[in-house]
Amino acid sequence: MKNITVAFTARAGLCTGCGICKNICPTKCISWKRLKGQYVPVVDSNVCVNCGLCSDVCPGLEMTYPSNCKETEAIIGNCLTAYNAWSCDPKIRHLSASGGVITTIVSALLKSNEYNVAFLVDEYCYDHQLKTKPYTDIDVSPDSANYRLPKSRYLAVSHENAVAYILNNKNDKVILIGTACAIRGLDNVIKRMGLMRENYLLIGLFCDSVFNYNIWDYYSTAFSSGKTLNNIHFKDKDSGGWPGNMKMEYSDGSSQFLDKKERTSMKEYFMPERCLYCADKLNVKADLSVGDNYTEQNSSSLGSNSVVIRTSIGEKAWNAAGSLLNCELIAYDKIQKAQFLDGRCHHLYYSKLEERKIQRKHGIKLLLNNGVNLSNKVIDYEYSWKKQKDKIKLGEDYEPGTLIKDQIAKQNSNSSYILAKMERIYYSVRRRIMR
Ligand SMILES: Cc1cc2nc3c(=O)[nH]c(=O)nc-3n(C[C@H](O)[C@H](O)[C@H](O)COP(=O)(O)OP(=O)(O)OC[C@H]3O[C@@H](n4cnc5c(N)ncnc54)[C@H](O)[C@@H]3O)c2cc1C
Ligand code: SF4
Ligand code: SF4
Ligand code: SF4
Repeated sequence: MKNITVAFTARAGLCTGCGICKNICPTKCISWKRLKGQYVPVVDSNVCVNCGLCSDVCPGLEMTYPSNCKETEAIIGNCLTAYNAWSCDPKIRHLSASGGVITTIVSALLKSNEYNVAFLVDEYCYDHQLKTKPYTDIDVSPDSANYRLPKSRYLAVSHENAVAYILNNKNDKVILIGTACAIRGLDNVIKRMGLMRENYLLIGLFCDSVFNYNIWDYYSTAFSSGKTLNNIHFKDKDSGGWPGNMKMEYSDGSSQFLDKKERTSMKEYFMPERCLYCADKLNVKADLSVGDNYTEQNSSSLGSNSVVIRTSIGEKAWNAAGSLLNCELIAYDKIQKAQFLDGRCHHLYYSKLEERKIQRKHGIKLLLNNGVNLSNKVIDYEYSWKKQKDKIKLGEDYEPGTLIKDQIAKQNSNSSYILAKMERIYYSVRRRIMR
């Protein structure tokens, strides 16, 4: 996409924070700035040569699907086989987010030298931008430096180090793990730069949404009572097992658990806007996609995963780790049902509304979910879209030291809120007239 750079992605509020653009830039003119709780790219226009590489690979600007596919086909993707699975190693299973399938597979593939390196996240502190780092071996015993690898970080993680590595080491076999937008961006890089697809194992995380980084300030305000927050485990099995409550660790060595509703109830406020236009919860471009097992088949408080094998590369990786995993075949539609995919179709409609807004405001035509046919009227989704955006705005504008519930009360008594309410009534009447 020549003539626009990722500066536009940031300006239009479409950045997912995947970090893919930074190191693909041949003139190294992209840096990060924190904006509305997200780390977004800034382009030095004095150095930029307008080559279009950054916007070509940026998943914020477009997510492509096979042409003319139906909404449900786009959301589900290809499936060779599906499993419920969990690690045979009880320590990995306990430490992990779900059943420890990812840690087990990555560890096996590195030990057998089938892959040279895996890019992983190794921190639980979110007062700065998270970036994946290269690992050539994994040992998650408590005294090992790798002890901090497992578990989910519900924040955008930058894959800039991985992009730099694969461009400089084109023959290496590399394991890349990420949310659907990150996997799409990495897949774009592989294609755009003519790299050999079979050198890369793309492990996709199911993804409902991430938080913006203001969530760290929010939890520091709401649950730290004057102490300094050091780490957050969004899901920790030490209190009550899977799916896990939140664990907050403080600099004085103390810790506390918070009920998981403190995590789930904040999602709609602290979600980056781009997540509202994303339909790819099941990470359809990955070689294998992995999530929590909500199917109730083989579910356990010890934790287990749902796994979708999508490609022959994924199948090979799965077989290599076979004896280290317990697994049972499951029909893919059971996983789909358990992941409540209906809501994701709405995101396809929200993205149409956003595309129209961008065309009006910036004169730029985008297809945020290119290839998907829509069967309903887009206008029917306008009210719920605006309502969700109002909530997201609270998380974007979050002021450290305040509580979200106080901000909601303030917003409700605010004149702009009354105006927004009148606008919604207008849209609702307009919708009825247009039917
Ligand atoms: C943002 C996010 C949203 C999710 N939403 C859902 C959902 O809606 N439904 C569902 O079923 N599952 C969801 N998951 C997936 C789930 O939480 C587990 O990550 C997954 O089941 C793998 O579990 P595991 O026990 O095999 O992982 P583990 O063995 O614990 O390994 C997890 C690996 O992922 C890496 N990692 C952690 N966070 C990130 C990140 N943000 N980006 C890149 N790499 C990361 C770690 O370095 C680690 O190597 C989500 C995960 C994330 C990160
Ligand atoms: S490539 Fe990723 S980080 Fe860069 S602008 Fe696009 S979405 Fe944002
Ligand atoms: S257009 Fe090219 S030179 Fe300019 S920021 Fe993007 S990648 Fe870098
Ligand atoms: S919901 Fe989509 S856009 Fe948002 S973080 Fe997840 S994969 Fe990326």
